[in-house]
Amino acid sequence: MNNIDKVTLTIPKEKNIALIAHDGKKADIIKWCEEHKEILSKHKLYGTGTTARLITEKTGLTVKGYNSGPLGGDQQIGARIVEGKIDFVIFFTDPLTAQPHDPDVKALLRIVQVYDVPMAINKSSADFIITSSLMNEEYNHDVINFKENVSKRVKEMS
Ligand code: PGA
Repeated sequence: MNNIDKVTLTIPKEKNIALIAHDGKKADIIKWCEEHKEILSKHKLYGTGTTARLITEKTGLTVKGYNSGPLGGDQQIGARIVEGKIDFVIFFTDPLTAQPHDPDVKALLRIVQVYDVPMAINKSSADFIITSSLMNEEYNHDVINFKENVSKRVKEMS
């Protein structure tokens, strides 16, 4: 798996941003969304069920909600990343509370790494990332060429 072909993908100017917060951080993400409302309103927003609904209700931003995190919402967002439909993640994680869906959160982190998706996991990293000049530009990055990868593996194993 070391010599994997890459393909150049583009994160568009209008980004597809996933917003997620563990329960202990929901108030923080709502406040953060309010603070950065003007920037966020220029992008398409998605989120796990409860986080998405709360942000919409409290800030007026339109956030498409998936299932609640513990019921598979993080996995849905991971799947959207694989499909190239979500290309940016803001996840306010709570490091002091055990989460029943910890394996799903780890799976999302792994997929974010595989697909080289920008991700913030706390307020300060979210502040830095959202104020980057790259928010207003297209961004090209090299990710694993999954089609080529499957063809190679099939050849190796047949
Ligand atoms: P929620 O899920 O927005 O439905 O609460 C977030 C999570 O804990 O992953």
